[in-house]
Amino acid sequence: MLKNWKTGAVALLFALGGHGAWGQAPAPAAAKTAAKTDSLAIRRIFDEALVRGQSYENLRYLCTRIGGRLAGSPQAALAVEWGRQTMEKAGFDRVYTQEVLVPHWVRGERERAEIIGRKGKGVVANVCALGSSPGTGGKLRAGVVEVKSFEELKALPDAAVKGKFVFFNRAFDDALIEPGQAYGRAGDQRRSGPAEAGKRGAVGALVRSLTAARDDFPHTGMTRYEPGLVPVPGAALSTNSADELSLFLKADPTLEFELEMSCLTLPDEKSYNVVGEIKGSKFPLEIITVGGHLDSWDLAQGAHDDGTGCVQSMEALRLLRAAGLKPERTMRAVLFMNEENGVRGGNEYARLAQLNHETHLAAIESDGGGFTPRGFAVDADPATVRKLARFGPLLAPYHAAAIVAGHAGTDIEPLQAAVHPKALIGYNCDSQRYFDLHHAATDTFDKVNRRELELGGASMAALLYLLGKYGL
Ligand SMILES: [Zn+2]
Repeated sequence: MLKNWKTGAVALLFALGGHGAWGQAPAPAAAKTAAKTDSLAIRRIFDEALVRGQSYENLRYLCTRIGGRLAGSPQAALAVEWGRQTMEKAGFDRVYTQEVLVPHWVRGERERAEIIGRKGKGVVANVCALGSSPGTGGKLRAGVVEVKSFEELKALPDAAVKGKFVFFNRAFDDALIEPGQAYGRAGDQRRSGPAEAGKRGAVGALVRSLTAARDDFPHTGMTRYEPGLVPVPGAALSTNSADELSLFLKADPTLEFELEMSCLTLPDEKSYNVVGEIKGSKFPLEIITVGGHLDSWDLAQGAHDDGTGCVQSMEALRLLRAAGLKPERTMRAVLFMNEENGVRGGNEYARLAQLNHETHLAAIESDGGGFTPRGFAVDADPATVRKLARFGPLLAPYHAAAIVAGHAGTDIEPLQAAVHPKALIGYNCDSQRYFDLHHAATDTFDKVNRRELELGGASMAALLYLLGKYGL
């Protein structure tokens, strides 16, 4: 393994125009040959993806024929079968499923809400229930108290909160370059807002949608309640409705909000991860996983979140084969179930890996949309991040050379504790538009660009090729 890595390092150092960090200068002729071999192999991967790519048509089917597929839904079951058949058609060495019990939450009738002023006149607000919220049991009408943070809520006297809706209205920080960072900083409102509001005696929580977009689409997502406490309904407001409610509250702090939601949680359902493998030619017991999550929220088609990650992962394996590259290590494409509201699929994948004493070298996840490639985020020790960054120059012609330390992916994260892979890796693409669509009705197939999607799958395949050849 070490020998292998050294050979590769020599090639890559040559590509960088550098010299041996391993104590000796590379033999120029051999290094030149290896670098050329790699760069030609990667070119073949991109040729295949751009000219004969299959991921876009696969995504079309998943999005437009199956559609939104929340864990436990009939559509999620159809998606499992679709994933299995797609991988079998691709001719992988082995295709199988991993059974997992998943939560089954249903939205019910379309939610309705109105802001009702002093004169009793109502203005429609665009809302949707947050995942795992209970319904309202008919119309729920109460006053509203607006806060920007949990600290602000904590500072309010009980009388100001009891019997009201708590309205969490902290917007995305527009000064941040990465919208993912803004999402991270605003996300506590959605994840724990309803639970915190309930603890203070509120009747429900209204949460500003986690997006920088200014439109009428509410963005759903998981909210968590604490065991033993009675959950109160939690709804997301579109950013336009949130701005409007805030404005109206300033003029009339006594206004009321009326919410009607019929969502509920049903018993757990049986579902599956879908797995496809190409067996390694030299080190079949060393596994490299590449995956996305098959489930999606129910409001749209789950195109960028995360249909793109699923089709790219399957495509990455197909591209290796089609480009005539025989992976030396085992490559495994995984469509994880239930990322959105439980991560049960990711946890089960890790549990089985541990149970079966598998050796996992690395895992890659694509769950940030199917936009133009940038590179990869690596969750590993600094030396491993540096090793991976040396692959950068080979990806530079495709604008995917930025290999930096960062968060990798929710579904592959449980592998860390279970089987200690050397690196968890997240596919990074341009993220400026991702949160415009994320968890909203706008996340549809027409928002995905064919070439951007195929370039992403090819970037992932190129990294798989390099990891398969050189190890870590
Ligand atoms: Zn996702």
